Amino acid sequence: MSKKNITEYALKLIKNCPACGVDYKIENINTVEENDEDFLVCFSCSACQSSLLSRVMTMPFGLVGSAILTDLKAEEINKFKDSEPVTANDVLSIYERLEFGRKKNNNYKINS
Ligand SMILES: [Zn+2]
Repeated sequence: MSKKNITEYALKLIKNCPACGVDYKIENINTVEENDEDFLVCFSCSACQSSLLSRVMTMPFGLVGSAILTDLKAEEINKFKDSEPVTANDVLSIYERLEFGRKKNNNYKINS
């Protein structure tokens, strides 16, 4: 399926922004990923700047889609779509870094 067909199909399924109701324009729909049976498209709203990420599957009886509202832009979705999921250890590591930074700053204030 060509990229033009994908965006036209996507626009038939989702016509307007769920956040503000403004109609999507075909130039604001980007194909993020495409396979034989499905495609991932990003709708960018020109009015409120929110994005809608939608996976559309071609089935024998027609098109089926699901979508989530996000603040990610199409380029950011491309960047993170193949990333590993965030684990509990990742969260603990960030917490420890933030906590260490906070203690370090407090020590700095006390000593200066
Ligand atoms: Zn909007």
